[in-house]
Order: sequence, then C-alpha cells, then structure tokens
Amino acid sequence: QCITHCPVGALSERDDTELVWDAIADPEKIVVVQVAPAVRASWGEQLGLSPEEAKVGKILDSLKRMGADYVFDTAFSADLTIMEEASEFLERFTAGELKERPMFTSCCPGWVRFVKSQFPHMVKDLSTAKSPQQMFGAVMKSYFAESIGVSPEKIFSVSVMPCLAKKSEREMELFYGEYAGHETDVVITTRELVKMIRSAHIKPDTLEDIPGDNPMSVGTGAGIIFGATGGVMEAALRTAYFTLKKENPPAGTFKQVRSTGFQENNGIQEAEFDIDGVKVRTAVVSGLGNTRELLKKIERKEVQYDFVEVMACPGGCVGGGGQLIHDGKELAFERGKNLYYLDDRSEVRCSHDNPDIKKLYAEYLEKPLSHKAHLLLHTEHQMT
Ligand code: SF4
Repeated sequence: QCITHCPVGALSERDDTELVWDAIADPEKIVVVQVAPAVRASWGEQLGLSPEEAKVGKILDSLKRMGADYVFDTAFSADLTIMEEASEFLERFTAGELKERPMFTSCCPGWVRFVKSQFPHMVKDLSTAKSPQQMFGAVMKSYFAESIGVSPEKIFSVSVMPCLAKKSEREMELFYGEYAGHETDVVITTRELVKMIRSAHIKPDTLEDIPGDNPMSVGTGAGIIFGATGGVMEAALRTAYFTLKKENPPAGTFKQVRSTGFQENNGIQEAEFDIDGVKVRTAVVSGLGNTRELLKKIERKEVQYDFVEVMACPGGCVGGGGQLIHDGKELAFERGKNLYYLDDRSEVRCSHDNPDIKKLYAEYLEKPLSHKAHLLLHTEHQMT
C-alpha cells in the first residue's frame, strides 16, 4: 500500500527496511548508518519515550543492536555543510555576486526540486554545497573507508532521515578517482526506523545513550539545529561571524532568524546583521507556498537579501514527511524547540569548533572550498 505523507510533492512512501536487513546479513558489506538531526525529535513519540529520554545515542545503540557496524550522528556532516556553505557565502558575497539575487541554501531536496521545476533561472543562485546526507556518504566512501583500510565498494551507507525526498536525493553518484558508487545506498525514514526497532524486539527502555563512532563522533549544537527552520542560517552565520571577527558570537546573536510558528509573517523570518561593519541581509522561509511568494517578491525586487534559507516542509525537517504522524496535530514547531534546547546545552555550539571537523580538514580536505572539498562535497545541480 502506498501512503503519501510528503508535504513537498506527492511522493509515494516506499519501504526500504528489507534492503537494510539484507545488507546487515551480507558478510561482505560494512554497514554504516547516519541519523539526521530531526529524527531525534520524533522517533520516541510512539515508543513511549519522552523528549528528554529519546536521545540520539539511544538510536545509535538500537542500530548497533540490529547489526550495523558503525553508527554516526548526521550533526557531524551538518557541521561540514556549514563549513563549506558559510565559506561559499562569504566568497560570493565579497566577490559582489549577490547584488542582484541572494545565495540560497541547497540542503533540502524538496526545495531544490521545486526551484528546478518552477524557477529554473534561479538554480544558479543555489549554494553548490551538498546536503549533510550526501556529504556524509561522500566522506564515508573516501576518508572513512581509507581510515579503516577498505575499498569504498565494501561500504554500505544507510541514512535515517525525517524525509521522503531524501530517498531520491540518494541517487547522486560519487566519482572519486574511480567511480565509488552512490554516496548513500539506502535511506530509511523515522517511521521505518521505528518499524525496524519493533521488528527486532528491542525494548526502548533498555537502550543506552552511546556516542557515535570515530573519527566522526562529534556533532555541535549548530549541526543539531539544522533540523529546524532557521537552523541552517543561524549555524552558517555563527561561522561567518567567526571568519570575519576571529571570535565566536555571543550566545543568541542570531536568534532572530528562528521561526516560532508557521502562520507568523507568512512563514518568513527576515533579519539584518552587522558583522564587523559588514551588513548581511537574510531571510528564512519554510513551506513551498510561502517560498513561491518570497521568490516572486525577490524577482519583482520588492525585497533584497544576501542569503536565504529555504525548507520545503513547514517548520523544517522536524515536520518532514518521514516523521511519525499524529492525526490532526502539527508538531513541527514543538520538535524544533527541542532541537534549540539541545543546542543550548551543547558543549560545542559552532561548526568550526567541532574537533572532528578540524581533524578532517587537517588530515584530508585541507580547507573549506579546497580542490578536494569541491570534488567530494559540492555539486553542479544538474537540471534533470
Ligand atoms: Fe526533506 Fe527537510 Fe526538505 Fe522536508 S524540509 S523535504 S524533511 S530536507
């Protein structure tokens, strides 16, 4: 039976859990799993876990118990996305490329597909940075494969996402020297994760809060808020601020980009910041109806921004089509608050301070926007 719950375009739900079980059972495959930031805000809702109890480390424990070889928090590669995207923004901004139109975020496949089909002349304004899911897959099949001494073909890369559109995003292929396969081999949703936990007869109250595996065990507060509308913008501004001022912004400096409700300002948060004499005009929008209105205003030159974050689902990924469903209830903004709470309590709150990210650049990628970073972490947004 096909169920359509995707708010971004009539996607039929496909159950891919068998593919994960098959990979786990295959002794030739090394199964690595990443778990997106928004999943932690929803997975416990039908397993009897409160938001405080439903920690991401317990998801990682459940995946290990089911047979995954390595488990990771996608907050790590959300930090990596920020390193690349904030650097790209500053480069395009200082080169004067954003005078006519802003740079748009590119980590939401629902939005990327929308702009390609409805506003194709704006595709060139998208950031070239891949999404955290795809960056993680690319790093898995290069840096990580090398670090454990196996060929990329042996790595079977699974992601747990709040999103149905991510299932088609996984079609992106990785050419790294030789063809290295898909960056992501299978995507399962939060609902499919819960189904797997149940079918493995794992009792949720026995799960332990374990860390992710090395060398990508750390995700910062900036990576966690990726799952809520405004989170990508806030995380990027924290790192852009550091790049310009050589110090971290005081807590709450960019809170203005957060949205507390879908109905407010037609789902659009506008804000202007002065960072060391540099004026940056930003907008954050979620929901494709609101996005269409915003793009028309930009085309008519009624508004002007330098940097715009777009998420197709109202409230961002926390309200994604792969999350648990409670008929008649819209929980996106409640779940978003949970992510901001976790960010507040994070030891490290800026992507550029993530020690595992620093190590990745020092040992492998050299620096943001390097040749190797471009090869692995950026895309040209083909009009397919
Ligand atoms: Fe997927 Fe998040 Fe975009 Fe929704 S907002 S389509 S969940 S990436």
